[in-house]
Amino acid sequence: MIVLKSPAEIEKMRSAGRMVAEILAGLKEIAAPGVALIELDAYAERETLKRKAKPAFKGYSGFPFSLCCSVNEQVVHGMPSARVLKPGDIVSLDFGVIYGGYYGDAAVTLPIGQVSEVAQRLMKATEESLYRAIDACTTSHRLSDVSNAVQSYVEERGFSVVRDFVGHGIGKELHEGPQIPNFGSPGKGPKLKPGMVLAIEPMINEKSFDVKVLEDGWTAVTIDGGLSAHFEHTVAVTDHGPEILTQL
Ligand code: MG
Repeated sequence: MIVLKSPAEIEKMRSAGRMVAEILAGLKEIAAPGVALIELDAYAERETLKRKAKPAFKGYSGFPFSLCCSVNEQVVHGMPSARVLKPGDIVSLDFGVIYGGYYGDAAVTLPIGQVSEVAQRLMKATEESLYRAIDACTTSHRLSDVSNAVQSYVEERGFSVVRDFVGHGIGKELHEGPQIPNFGSPGKGPKLKPGMVLAIEPMINEKSFDVKVLEDGWTAVTIDGGLSAHFEHTVAVTDHGPEILTQL
C-alpha cells in the first residue's frame, strides 16, 4: 500500500528531512583519515538528540547504532566500530531520524583523502543516477521509470545495480510501500501521484551486483570484493515536480 501524504504531513517531513541533511553535512566535515566509525555514530546521535529528534535506525529490527557506516566493499548496513578511516577509503553513511512522527532518510558516500580513479567514477555515477531517478519523480511517470533511470545510467558506465536491497516509501513508518528497485524496465507499476514520498537509494557496485550479509547479521558486502557506493534522498512527488526533502 502507498500512503499519500497531505501538504501538512509533507511540511512535517521537511523538518525531519532537513535534520538528516544537516547531520550528514556535519558528518561530511568530520569524516577524515584517523577518525573512527564509532565517532561518526556518536556525532550523529548527539546531533539528533540535540534537535529533540530520535535516530531512526537505532533499535530498528535490533540494529544497535544510529548510523550505518559501510566502507569500501561494504554495500549497506555496516556497523560503526573502532575501525579508523584511512586515506583511499570510501565510506557510505546512511542516516535517518524520526521527528514529529515522521521519518527522513538519506545516504552519501564520501571519499577519505585521495581515492582511486575508479572509486571517484563509481561515486559520481551513483550520485548522478540518484538525481536521474529523482528527475523521474513526476506525475507523468510510473514507478519503474525511477528504477530504470538508475539502472540505465550506471550500466552505461560499466557498473552494476545491487538487486538485494531497494528503496521504499517513507512517512510515519521508515519503510512503507512501494518497494523501489534500482533496476527494471520503464513504464511499469503505479503512476506517481502528488503526496507520494519515496526514499530512493541506488546501491551500485564496481564489479558484479552479487552481495552477501556477514555473520554480524547486518553488514552487506560485495561477493567479489569490488567497491560499492550508496546515495539516497527522501523525495516528495508534487504537482510541480519532485521535491527533495533531505537537502539543505
Ligand atoms: Mg532507506
